[in-house]
Amino acid sequence: MMLMETNKIADTDREVAELISDELERQRTTIELIASENIVSEAVMAAAGTVLTNKYAEGKPGKRFYNGCEVVDKIEALAQERAKKLFNMPHVNVQPHSGAQANMAVFLYALKPGDTILGMDLSNGGHLTHGSPVNFSGLYFNVVSYGVDENGYIDYDNVEKMALEHRPKLIICGASNYPRIIDFKRFREIADKVGAYLMADIAHIAALVATGVHPSPAGYAHFVTTTTHKTLRGPRGGMIMCDEEHALGIDKAVFPGIQGGPLEHIIAAKAVALKEALEPSFTDYAKQVVKNAKTLAQTLMDNGIDIVSGGTDNHLMTIDLRKLGLTGKDMANMLEKVGITANKNTVPNDPQSPFVTSGIRIGTPAVTTRGFKEDDMVEVGQIIAEAIKNHDNEEVLKSLKERSMSLCKKYPLYPNL
Ligand SMILES: *Cc1c(COP(=O)(O)O)cnc(C)c1O
Repeated sequence: MMLMETNKIADTDREVAELISDELERQRTTIELIASENIVSEAVMAAAGTVLTNKYAEGKPGKRFYNGCEVVDKIEALAQERAKKLFNMPHVNVQPHSGAQANMAVFLYALKPGDTILGMDLSNGGHLTHGSPVNFSGLYFNVVSYGVDENGYIDYDNVEKMALEHRPKLIICGASNYPRIIDFKRFREIADKVGAYLMADIAHIAALVATGVHPSPAGYAHFVTTTTHKTLRGPRGGMIMCDEEHALGIDKAVFPGIQGGPLEHIIAAKAVALKEALEPSFTDYAKQVVKNAKTLAQTLMDNGIDIVSGGTDNHLMTIDLRKLGLTGKDMANMLEKVGITANKNTVPNDPQSPFVTSGIRIGTPAVTTRGFKEDDMVEVGQIIAEAIKNHDNEEVLKSLKERSMSLCKKYPLYPNL
């Protein structure tokens, strides 16, 4: 199959063009439950594939190291203004190439090698860049980690105790796999008690924060970092937000600190996504994401499947397979057979290794963009529950795949491509 928009690629490179077509077909025929993924608009995708990719623009709008930046200056300024408005923050840097780069720039600005950071443990839901020993954050800083309690919630009293004991220079809140509301106010109170900076990494919940569906860290965190491609539904990339006090330092940390030329084509796509996010319909979307997640969690629990923390307040949840004696690795692979994409993930205090795990993380941002509503989430939940219970029955799995395919057909993906 050859698609219209890949024709230009095919003229030069048939191999890559066909693989892109294959990927579109894969996305069209799977129910995407990877919690960090989404489906961008055709406008966002188009902006990312423009002549802006040709331009070098080291520096920032109005202060560039290259000539010919008068147009990209306007584009980047638009992205900045929209982000400031959306998140209600005084300063934004839209240049980080990714969420990890955004975090790295904050660390470069706020810390010296060997300083102590207090972040959420990776196996409890934190991100690699929050101090994992295999990441620069764990290699260059002295890491102290907090986790969740036996009910799957952050224990703020324990975070405070650890902060008082270890006196970190930076406290990190925000996670890659935490299904509950994060209390930014409490985190700031803890940071103030020990004279630490607070960084809120809202990579996952950005759209929920932007629309008021989750409380905002604005006014509490010294630095707010995010990705633009998860719930926010923009191109792959990152952003950093802060008060004017830290603006110059953060900008310098991004460039020349850790990056060279910004990706102005991606910044244009960020601007388009931010415009979309400022529309009232985006608030409806964010609300639906949470409604869908709650419905999915309830359906799974009604069908005897354990969910870490017993539900969700946001867009994601983790299935806990320990009671069933199954692994996340096997079940995530099995779900692929029934047309559902998800990722294995550790559960708190997981007895299995991170390569095997006892959990599967699932989320609703992508299916909600596709149009799924509560009724559809009940069906998705039932497919997952039956698939787990019948994981070694090929016959049943085949019929479940049919049910997934009906849902995919009900909500065609990129019908115009
Ligand atoms: C995804 C994520 C990141 C990293 O984003 P990349 O764009 O993959 O580098 C950082 N922090 C958190 C909490 C995340 O979930």
